[in-house]
Amino acid sequence: MIDFQELAEKYKTPLYVYDFEYMKQQYQMLKSAFKARKSLLAYAVKANSNLSVIQQFASLGGGADCVSIGEVRRALLAGIEPYKIIFSGVGKQDDEITEAISSDILYINAESMAELERIELLARNMNKPCRISVRVNPNIDPKTHPYISTGLSANKFGVDINTAKRMYIFAKNSSYLEPVGIHFHIGSQLTDLEPITEAAIIVADLVRSLHVIDIDIKFFDAGGGLGVVYDQENTISPHDYAQAVLSALKGLDVTVVCEPGRFLTANAGYFVTKVLYEKVNEQKRFIIVDGAMNDLLRPSLYGAFHMVSTVGGKGEKSRADVVGPVCESGDFLAKDCMLPPLKHNQLLVIHSAGAYGFGMGSNYNTRPRSAEVAVQGDVNWLIRRRETFEDLIVLEKDYLRS
Ligand SMILES: *Cc1c(COP(=O)(O)O)cnc(C)c1O
Repeated sequence: MIDFQELAEKYKTPLYVYDFEYMKQQYQMLKSAFKARKSLLAYAVKANSNLSVIQQFASLGGGADCVSIGEVRRALLAGIEPYKIIFSGVGKQDDEITEAISSDILYINAESMAELERIELLARNMNKPCRISVRVNPNIDPKTHPYISTGLSANKFGVDINTAKRMYIFAKNSSYLEPVGIHFHIGSQLTDLEPITEAAIIVADLVRSLHVIDIDIKFFDAGGGLGVVYDQENTISPHDYAQAVLSALKGLDVTVVCEPGRFLTANAGYFVTKVLYEKVNEQKRFIIVDGAMNDLLRPSLYGAFHMVSTVGGKGEKSRADVVGPVCESGDFLAKDCMLPPLKHNQLLVIHSAGAYGFGMGSNYNTRPRSAEVAVQGDVNWLIRRRETFEDLIVLEKDYLRS
């Protein structure tokens, strides 16, 4: 049990707390589900890009899936080996591509023909061949929230099967492109196995048809997206997930890559905030806390549910909205949750905050971002200090006119 009271006294609030032991267990559970084949778990850095979090996965042998050159730099800095780094994303810029090529990462994931041509040109200019994969959009409904669905033709990600084929042929015919991988990622927070199974079958068939024309894919990258429990969802077990991917691969000599983000970190993380005030009107009970949408955006952005628990606190529970100090009606961390009477400075713990939490944060309303703390067993340590007002103005203050 994590002693949130002690952590809040030591590091103040609002505070992000990550259980590094839990991250390790999740990593190992998924890794062992793929044990029938060579596999690479490339942690999706965007889920939680704190250097110490990435380092935790580096120490377990993990790779990194990055969606900007900044994330690639973070991964390298945290000790991920270059040959375990993948660079994805629909809009890579020239200098990002060039840097990725010189860093000798595992491959760049091309998301359009135009981008592949750009990669080719840049590699040619550098006189350094580039390993690539193509992100295939299998046009499958992942049955998740529309904002986090990525594998439909209506989404901006990847290319259709025929375009993918043309891209592989283009790559094969260039001495500056080495097509080594194939990739799909149909969405996030997937709780239904069927779309993954279907997508894996479609993409594995494409691998077979590429083989016929002498294009040998070595890495079969099934993306991320494995769902987690926020509320009472039924989720997919790592074993079933792995089996769905592995069974599509019969007869193929490929290394399986997957890119879990949320699965590794979401339920390792807690957002700790303290009660400032209570306010009751004819309709509602509001708990006003010191954390806000600029710290944890998911409730405001997606209407995401996060479980809330109290540290101490007894008495009859009643329905309340947990809201922050930010000047937006959309600033809430939880709606209609049953909470006991709460005192000034009492702690609330927002659960499942380890993925897409801190990273989506901002300084809106000139609010310094929270500190981040790691916990493992009975030790805890700071992994990002709390921002100060000075941090927030440092890029502006020298430009004031005298
Ligand atoms: C976001 C993303 C992931 C990780 O998604 P999770 O749902 O956090 O597992 C993996 N791969 C790609 C390409 C992504 O964009």
